[in-house]
This record gives sequence, C-alpha cells and structure tokens, in this order.
Amino acid sequence: MGLIVQKFGGTSVGSVEKIRNAASRTAEEWKNGNQVVVVVSAMGKTTDHLVDMANEISEAPSKREMDMLLTTGEQITIALYAMALAQNGIEAISFTGWQAGVKTEAIHGNARIIDIETDRISKELSAGKVVIVAGFQGVTADGDITTLGRGGSDTTAVALAAALKADKCDIYTDVTGVFTTDPRIVKSARKLLNVSYDEMLELANLGAGVLHPRAVEFAKNYGLRLEVRSSMEKESGTIIEEENEMEQNLIVRGVAFEDQITRVSVLGVSTSLKGLSTIFSTLAQNHINVDIIVQSRTEAGAANISFSIKSTNLPETLDVLESNKESLNYQSIESETGLAKVSIVGSGMVSNPGVAAKMFEVLEENGIQVKMVSTSEIKVSTVVPEKQMVNAVESLHEAFELFSGTVKTN
Ligand code: ASP
Ligand code: MG
Repeated sequence: MGLIVQKFGGTSVGSVEKIRNAASRTAEEWKNGNQVVVVVSAMGKTTDHLVDMANEISEAPSKREMDMLLTTGEQITIALYAMALAQNGIEAISFTGWQAGVKTEAIHGNARIIDIETDRISKELSAGKVVIVAGFQGVTADGDITTLGRGGSDTTAVALAAALKADKCDIYTDVTGVFTTDPRIVKSARKLLNVSYDEMLELANLGAGVLHPRAVEFAKNYGLRLEVRSSMEKESGTIIEEENEMEQNLIVRGVAFEDQITRVSVLGVSTSLKGLSTIFSTLAQNHINVDIIVQSRTEAGAANISFSIKSTNLPETLDVLESNKESLNYQSIESETGLAKVSIVGSGMVSNPGVAAKMFEVLEENGIQVKMVSTSEIKVSTVVPEKQMVNAVESLHEAFELFSGTVKTN
C-alpha cells in the first residue's frame, strides 16, 4: 500500500467515455489498497477553445481574466471525474487548484508553484477518499487565480507528488511513453524504457512535448521517479529517473525537432562593450524568447549577431528591433523564415567526443545545410531548412542506430 499520484492529460479525458476509462485506472490502484490523488487537464481541446473565444473578444485580453477563464477547463474535468469514481462505488472529492492548496507567485499565465499546503488533501485521503485535483492552476497570496503555463498540469502532478511524498507519480497520456523520436514521423522510432532527468529536460525543452519542462525540473530536484505511460494500453511506459550505469553506453537517446523557426540577423552592430547585452536585454524586456545565438565579426570591426526565434514571434521581434534602432546602434536587419531545429540528446555525449562531428557528417551526406549550431554537455542542436527537417531527423535516427536494440531492456 502506498500513495500514488496519477495525472491524465487532455486527450485521456477528452470525452465522457475517456473519463470513465481513466477513472477505471484510478479505481484499480485504489482497490489494490493505495491512496490515490488524481490530477487532470481540461477535456480535449477545451483550453484552445477558451483561448480562441478570448481572442475573439479582445486582441489583448487581461492576463488575470485569461487565467480566470482558462482554469474553468480543468474544473469541468475534476467534477465529472469524481462522479465517474462515485459511479464505481468509490468515494471521491474534487478540488480546484486553490482548494488543493497550490500557492503560486503573482504572475498570470505562467506562474511558478511556491508551496502546496497539503492538509486538506491529506485529511480526505485519510478518510479513504480519492482526491481529484485540477491541474495547471493555483492561487496567489492575494487570492487571485493563476495558471502555470500551457501544459502545466504535469507540473501540478509532480509538485503534489513531491509535497505528499508519494511513492509513485504516473503521467498518463495518449502515447505509450517517451520515444527516440516522434513515431508519427519516423516509423522505426521506439519507446525508451528509461530516460534520465537531464535528457528528459533537454527533450522537453526541445519540443518533444510529452512533459512540461518545469515538471521534469521539479522531479529532478526532488528525486521523484516518473513514469510516462498510456491511458489506453496496459503496457508499462518510460521511467524518468536519475542516470543509472547501464545507460552510460548509450551515446544518443533521442532526436527532437521543431518546425517554424526563423533566424534573425542584426548586422553591423557597434562593438562597444554593451552592444550584445543591449540587444538581448531589449528583446527580453519585450518577452521575446531567443534560442540559438551566433556572433561574428565583420572586416570593418563591427559585429553581426544572429539568433533564432519561433516564427510566430517574428513581427514582434522586428518591431522591437526597429523601434530601438538608435539605442541598439546597428546597420540593418535580415531574417530568414522556413527553418527548423533538429537536435540530438544523450547523456553519453559528455564522455564521447566526436558526436557533433558525426552529426554534421550525416547531415552533409544527406545534402542538408546547417545554418546554426548550439551545444550543451548532452545535446547538439542544429538549425536546418524546414523542407529538410524530416530527412534530417530520419537520417540521424538511422545513423545513431536509435531503432536497434541498444536501448536498455531492464
Ligand atoms: N489544459 C492546459 C493546457 O491545455 C494545461 C494542461 O493540459 O496541462 O495547456
Ligand atoms: Mg501535456
């Protein structure tokens, strides 16, 4: 007997039928004598629909009201879920984020969890009830409702598991685990049985989409073992935990990719000491997320600075740069859209030189032009033409033998 936190994502609770199915997975654990806390997302595309409605009313809706609106999605699911469990003869009680004691900082749209006061949850668990908590939401010290950023229900689940010292945290989703790459794109992609926190963090940040990056960060900080698994299939999923020795021989574990990337180049920047910092602090002040950065010197002694952004941020980025032309002191701006980011990730890279070289070789052999590069200890990212993205992913998946039996088989 233990304490289990289960999280069900939007597709896993996308209809009444699916809520019933998810509730049966909860019932199973409960009937085995476990205490269970369930965290749920909004049903299916509910959050997207709510966002659309807000945008129909206003171009720039108030962030506070946006949070008020979006948190209703999860509130629907918790109530239906509790009813589905009751129908199974299981006593259950639903809580919104604030009822569950999820305290966040006072930032709307992307708040971090500061603390969880678990008294009320613990009391209900002790009384033999299953507790259903709305994911993705919390409350500020002033009593305002906040959200944790898109995909944030994962973080609610992991934070609750840490606060309650749960024995297990299972993330139920519409795929059977974390794959070497997206199986919808590469047929030979395979499910990984184990992934380390750091690898998962890179994969999540690189657009692999299965887990909210903050949830992985939380799990790493608290040494909480996560399992990503299917809500429909009964097979075991992917375990995310601290690196173990058996994995060391795996140099590359996954290929991540993201389309709709744009490269922006700021040309002829004066090389005064503050040139670089002024550009990026101006962008940061305007909440523009910059990814890969490359700097080169011109013959005339000025600097050219290129960086990559999501293509949707291009109009705003150009706007910010152009309206600050004088203080930023540059000559011209160029941009190139239609790019994609393709990355390889693996803890084994730390101790295996030559991985980046092999990656570039593979891309060259396949006629793929590399426009930008960035590396960390356990990742190499390249920016390539979007048209060649799938070719790049397939070639790398093949070249690093991710399809073969190198994956740990327990
Ligand atoms: N419903 C929210 C979203 O769609 C949170 C979540 O699903 O994790 O982003
Ligand atoms: Mg999600």
